[in-house]
Amino acid sequence: MAKGTIYIDQERCKGCELCTTVCPQQVIAMESQFLNKRGYHPAALVDSNGECTGCGVCAVICPDVAITVFREVPVSRRVPVPTADS
Ligand code: SF4
Ligand code: SF4
Repeated sequence: MAKGTIYIDQERCKGCELCTTVCPQQVIAMESQFLNKRGYHPAALVDSNGECTGCGVCAVICPDVAITVFREVPVSRRVPVPTADS
């Protein structure tokens, strides 16, 4: 299964919880102890087992464009970097 991770810009988050409802891996939760500058409890990635697949659903649904997704590229799909010899 693909590996991924996300970055959540917590200062952009308005705490709507949409991302937590759509994540198929259930690795997004709301902060309970922390308020951002806008006064919301923001979302946070809770993925100590590395279960995020980088599917991107959370970023698509976020109305505040607060989530950036990173997905590992399989070795077979990597484009070789030209070297001085090639
Ligand atoms: S990229 Fe997919 S698996 Fe990862 S946190 Fe977002 S919805 Fe969940
Ligand atoms: S969908 Fe976006 S704004 Fe809503 S809780 Fe998630 S990160 Fe915050």
